Amino acid sequence: LTGVKASNSLSFSLQAKMSRPVQARRLEGIDKNIWVEFVKLAATYSKVNLGQGFPDFPAPDFLTEAFTRALGGGNHMLHQYTRAFGHPPLVKVLAQLFEKLLRRDLDPMTNVMVTVGAYQALFCCFQALVDEGDEVIIIEPFFDCYEPMVKMAGGTPVFVPLRLNPPKDGKLMSSADWHLDPAELASKFSARTKAIVLNSPNNPLGKVFSRGELGLIAELCVKHDVLCISDEVYEWLVYDGKQHIRIASLQGMWDRTVIIGSAGKTFSATGWKVGWVVGPDRLLQHLRTVHQNSVYHCATIAQEAVAQGFQRELMLYGKPESYFVQLPKELQQKRDWLVQSLDAVGMKPIVPEGTYFLVADISLFKSDVPDVPNSDEPYDYRFAKWMVKNKGLAAIPLSAFYSEAHKNNYTNFIRFCFAKEEATLKAANDILQKWKQEKTSS
Ligand code: PMP
Repeated sequence: LTGVKASNSLSFSLQAKMSRPVQARRLEGIDKNIWVEFVKLAATYSKVNLGQGFPDFPAPDFLTEAFTRALGGGNHMLHQYTRAFGHPPLVKVLAQLFEKLLRRDLDPMTNVMVTVGAYQALFCCFQALVDEGDEVIIIEPFFDCYEPMVKMAGGTPVFVPLRLNPPKDGKLMSSADWHLDPAELASKFSARTKAIVLNSPNNPLGKVFSRGELGLIAELCVKHDVLCISDEVYEWLVYDGKQHIRIASLQGMWDRTVIIGSAGKTFSATGWKVGWVVGPDRLLQHLRTVHQNSVYHCATIAQEAVAQGFQRELMLYGKPESYFVQLPKELQQKRDWLVQSLDAVGMKPIVPEGTYFLVADISLFKSDVPDVPNSDEPYDYRFAKWMVKNKGLAAIPLSAFYSEAHKNNYTNFIRFCFAKEEATLKAANDILQKWKQEKTSS
């Protein structure tokens, strides 16, 4: 008994010592995360999940076969560590591909680094390049992790929204109707600006930035000596004959740009978490320091399989059999199905020029989910939660992709992902049709 008593009082005194705050200050205000909540809601209630961005169709056979070969093909060294900054076959083939795309010579060892998905590439950029007091310009709407990542690095995000210029002639809205206001953008650059984050094609809108818009951004970066973190994970997902232009290929931009890519998006294998950065050594050397002091290394077998996937694509570059040609063709068809489904029920779609996301206007559905004035929760959050619980259809509220200050201007939209099997999109269509019938008969 005495022993139990003694150990109880020991654990009490240990607990008492832990009463000071445990959380590092850099985490203040960034603990909430839209995905944790909405992924759980979708898992609990959805019959059709068009929320989080991942395909429900299989990755291409050539890629999964490459993985299986790497796993059991006799080279047992593929089960061990490889080079920290990227498995040599993968950095080599990425350098070859980007030499072609950027029309410049690249050194696979210094101009390319492999990361744990594009997520870690972003994390390395902010940690390596942003200091206390630096400002980072973020174009809204934005992939939500940019803001907490800038803050964790000690920087201050400065937001500039794309402005909607709706079409007048009753045509469907397009992601191209969302523009940067040149004067507004220029006003955000100052001596404190360290970097701008560009995401073209843009998640969530699907906007593919035009040469004119990229030229404007490039001009301001050069004028103010600002870096560009260019998130191009949807580089191959561009529709209607549009072209993805790489800002690093514009005058004065190579030396100040880090290009970010993702095998998850490129080869429809988001679970593999293989990403990369391409850029000048003067920037990448600092990303390598963050990488070697955090994750150090990414899974060798996944890197080997992605390398083989790229070798195939390099051989078939521009040919009809190329996955980079076939995937956007298939996705464009899926986009058009979802556009038709939404348009037919009056949930007005904004036709995306790229990515596998589509944003739709829910204004006509407001009577189903009445507004609660003065609620802390934005209307689109409430709408998306109601929709998944009552209709079984999961989507993501658009205001999640805006800063706190601008959120309330964008609460009439939700984002769908259309990288889904035909049957999934058909099931979504059935839900929307039934909903519309219920609305008209009530
Ligand atoms: N950037 C953007 C714009 C994204 O949409 C995503 C994934 N949703 C990522 C980066 C992260 O990519 P990965 O899965 O390769 O980490």
